[in-house]
Amino acid sequence: MNSIAQFWDSSIVPTLVDYVRVPAKSPHFDRDWAKNGHIDAVVELAAGWCRKNALPDMTLEVVRLPGRTPVLFIEVPAFAGSTQEKPGSPLKSAAGTTGAGAGTTGEGTVLLYGHLDKQPEMTGWAEGLGPWLPVVKDGKLYGRGGADDGYAVFAAIAALKSLREEKRSHARCVVLIECCEESGSYDLPAYLDALAARIQSPSLVVGLDSGCGNYEQMWGTTSLRGIVNGVLTVEVLAEGVHSGDASGVVAESFRIARGILARIDDVETGAVRDPSFHAPIPEERREQAKRAAGVLGREIHARFPFVPGMQPMDARLEELVLNRTWRPALAVTGAEGLPLPASAGNVLRPKTALALSLRIPPTVDGARAAKHLKAILEAEPPYGARVSFEAGQAATGWHAPATEAWLASAVDQASQKHWGKPAMWMGEGGTIPFMAMLGEKFPQAQFLITGVLGPHANAHGPNEFLHIEYAKKLTAAVADVIAAQVKS
Ligand SMILES: [Zn+2]
Repeated sequence: MNSIAQFWDSSIVPTLVDYVRVPAKSPHFDRDWAKNGHIDAVVELAAGWCRKNALPDMTLEVVRLPGRTPVLFIEVPAFAGSTQEKPGSPLKSAAGTTGAGAGTTGEGTVLLYGHLDKQPEMTGWAEGLGPWLPVVKDGKLYGRGGADDGYAVFAAIAALKSLREEKRSHARCVVLIECCEESGSYDLPAYLDALAARIQSPSLVVGLDSGCGNYEQMWGTTSLRGIVNGVLTVEVLAEGVHSGDASGVVAESFRIARGILARIDDVETGAVRDPSFHAPIPEERREQAKRAAGVLGREIHARFPFVPGMQPMDARLEELVLNRTWRPALAVTGAEGLPLPASAGNVLRPKTALALSLRIPPTVDGARAAKHLKAILEAEPPYGARVSFEAGQAATGWHAPATEAWLASAVDQASQKHWGKPAMWMGEGGTIPFMAMLGEKFPQAQFLITGVLGPHANAHGPNEFLHIEYAKKLTAAVADVIAAQVKS
């Protein structure tokens, strides 16, 4: 752990500072990404760092399929260490049980995943902070992308490096870092196909793009929600007209949009109406939600920057956990056709366009939900208005396969070792489309999906930060789990 912490301070943090400076927005937010070169710049930055810190027999390639964002692909052969895990460790000391011991490298492949593309700027950054302005303050690195998910490639290499230094065995590892995640990973299936022979069949997938409920223990993600987004457009006129003249005759486009949105969710409670956007919540996940609610307490909602007086959507903490992990929720994330208040005249505007984002439960099919959403929104347009929904992203969530005992115990031990507290398991509310793709492709794999997005880390929003101490510990914990996999 000490050497990992030093490596973070001396090498990783300075490189992440450079990374934050680059506006490497995901292709959805930078259509000219290829021309602008920011994505390439961060890939080169990460690749250069990895080459400089290469493990002896590691190979690295920036893979570029035509017309697609690049992928950084690293292969690290299995390593036979000279030490065994501490005697007395509850992990099976390999010798007696499997015939393995010092010199064993473990079976299969460990796939470590992260991404380098970023969310756009967003407004609301505090004084002295900004998306492309790296600031290290109070043990945190502020700026866009440090925590989501620039740190991942550095943490992955640092973890493997520490295993080598400590002469601890690990299986063959591949590190796959994409640049399309914040756009729904639409480039990834092509890379999974192109790299299939080199990825092989992972027995363990370590995803480093998720969250943690607090910074006091290790968190494993058991599920991710899916997402369907797109733009709802309501057109009523060919051009704007005097509202005194036309209101009462011409229906107002925003009102029509409100009515249409009310078909999706209840305006009083936010509950999504249509049962096809819901999924049954497994009993085990309800139990884990209860435990997580017990550990997190009111931090579940207190970590959000509520305005004074604002209350969470439910007073029951467990329900809040389930709401954000297993239930659908709708948000309006953007608008067109609405002037800023200062330039708004008394006019009936010709149209209202709203960007919609519907989170869906882990086990609801994204493509089907998108089709269904479009059908509901476009059905029977009031007054014969021109109503359309252009679907954007449609990503299915992910639900972890049952965690094998070795992994549960390895994660718990790592949490005890580095934080002094047991590991926790919880669903996450966000979406990593890659996980659904991998889950489908490698149904026999075990998954450790974890990350540094804890309270106030605020990925996608203003004031995003990377909790450096937590990232150090997580790096060491991931190394321990990879070492434990050898003996599984
Ligand atoms: Zn991410």
